[in-house]
Amino acid sequence: MLYMACHWGLDYSQSGVSYMVPIYLNRMASYRGPAGGSPRVSEALLKSIFEQQGQIRTNGRIARIIVENGTARGVELEDGTRYVANKAVVSTIDTHQTFLKYVGEEKLDKEFVEMIRVWQWEKWSLAVQHLALAERPRFKAAASQPDLDDAFIYVLGYESLADLKGHWDAMARGELPAGAGFHCCFPSVHDSFQAPAGRASGLISQMAPFQLANGGSERWLNRHHREETCERQRAVLARYAPNVSGENVLWNYLSAPADLENKFANMVHGSYKQGAYHPLQMGFLRPNQDCSQYRTPVKGLYLGGASVAPGGMVIFGPGYNCANAIAEDFQIPKWWKEPDYVTAARDGGYV
Ligand SMILES: Cc1cc2nc3c(=O)[nH]c(=O)nc-3n(C[C@H](O)[C@H](O)[C@H](O)COP(=O)(O)OP(=O)(O)OC[C@H]3O[C@@H](n4cnc5c(N)ncnc54)[C@H](O)[C@@H]3O)c2cc1C
Repeated sequence: MLYMACHWGLDYSQSGVSYMVPIYLNRMASYRGPAGGSPRVSEALLKSIFEQQGQIRTNGRIARIIVENGTARGVELEDGTRYVANKAVVSTIDTHQTFLKYVGEEKLDKEFVEMIRVWQWEKWSLAVQHLALAERPRFKAAASQPDLDDAFIYVLGYESLADLKGHWDAMARGELPAGAGFHCCFPSVHDSFQAPAGRASGLISQMAPFQLANGGSERWLNRHHREETCERQRAVLARYAPNVSGENVLWNYLSAPADLENKFANMVHGSYKQGAYHPLQMGFLRPNQDCSQYRTPVKGLYLGGASVAPGGMVIFGPGYNCANAIAEDFQIPKWWKEPDYVTAARDGGYV
């Protein structure tokens, strides 16, 4: 349970964020995997945007947010293309880049710039190994409890509190110990879209430091280090599911912390939620008191990504709240319905 409370970004010794624990325990009991894999989620969003006559441009990196007289007027891409906004510009990338890189310090108050500068990234990132297996894993523990072979998520490698603390303490030193634990899942066991008949897919998600004490973040690009990390992860898994080894492993691929930064422009330092979960970066302070209501000091510029409350992960909260704020500011009729669980929380006095 401590792992599930910590693995998306809480330090086991972090005080002041205990209100996150019930949220995480609730998530632990409500894990979902989209049939066909996670791209199906973005495809569903895409469809919803097209249904509202929206358009999407991909493969273009913005060079700046056009700000005139304190108001966001649009964005300019690196190739010079300009998109002019008739109402609002929404950024779902981190605050450092949004304000310091794309708006520009000279257009902002000094105090606000300072608030953005002190923003802290996560203390650790993710080393994720993708697996193609000749056959599905068989867990030793299933001999006495057969349904353990069909679990959705496995947390492995932590046989005691000390094991978990040891992993977290090592990450603070820039290390990833050989026997460190992780969570893993085997989507094809639940979803036939994810592997050819009879075969299996797997995913090992391990918390790992971005900067390694020995070699910095660059070391994640070293082939030998990558292979060693994969072998160590599989050795832990094989302690519980011995058949995930040898020829059963048809193919594997590691997505290491440095890969995240290289692949996703806003996942700086392998940060997968645009900034640490720290008491001073949560709730109405995420990312700071001037922006946590999705509006920013730049008129017409809104935030809608993981840097703003309620934070990261595929929860849709920041985007949903941001859309509401824009609709309210511009008196746009909302064509969406409040989710039932939000209504229930409101009725229960929680919101
Ligand atoms: C390996 C991994 C596994 C994860 N697993 C899970 C999971 O199982 N469950 C879960 O809930 N969450 C998971 N997460 C976390 C989750 O993916 C993120 O918290 C979430 O995607 C954040 O959403 P966002 O909209 O704020 O930002 P993003 O999804 O990162 O979207 C920001 C977008 O902005 C684009 N962008 C950045 N800079 C520019 C620029 N200059 N110009 C144009 N575009 C730009 C980026 O390319 C990106 O498409 C995982 C993350 C990683 C890295």
